[in-house]
Amino acid sequence: MIKREIIKYCAHCNDQFSASRPTASFCSNTCRTKACVKRKQDERAKADLEAQHLQEQLQLQLIADARRLKREQKAELKRQEHEKQAEIDRQAQDSKRIQDDKDAADLVIKDQKDADDIQKLKDKQIADEKQSREGKERMKKLIKDHKDKNILAVFVNDFIHGAPVETDSNNTDHFFIQL
Ligand SMILES: [Zn+2]
Repeated sequence: MIKREIIKYCAHCNDQFSASRPTASFCSNTCRTKACVKRKQDERAKADLEAQHLQEQLQLQLIADARRLKREQKAELKRQEHEKQAEIDRQAQDSKRIQDDKDAADLVIKDQKDADDIQKLKDKQIADEKQSREGKERMKKLIKDHKDKNILAVFVNDFIHGAPVETDSNNTDHFFIQL
């Protein structure tokens, strides 16, 4: 059986060589070993690069997380501040409403007092009018009962003004007509 040799190029040093098997890739065992070492070095370098890349990604992720956390904390602080302010506003409104209610109640009490005062004044007016009417009735009765108008006139003036007034029979006539 004739062994056919194939001309190939070494996968490591790129030199031309005669391959006894179609699957041969290297010109020598040395090149095979060197290629193996190089492949392992490349794989390690690639793994290192990937690890570094991963590390960088993680770092970026951490930074992004930290920023997000800071933003969220800031937003939360702002929200709490708003809530606090809203609570203060609510309390102020409550206080104002309570004060308004109190003012309204005071006003009702004042109105009631005013109404009472007015009623008292009316009662007094009615009492005064009644007293005045009774006084007039008594005057008429006195006039009827007594013939001497001159004496009566003095009496009437005393009654009305609380002091004696000089008078005569003509004036007393006029005065009594007015009564
Ligand atoms: Zn070689």
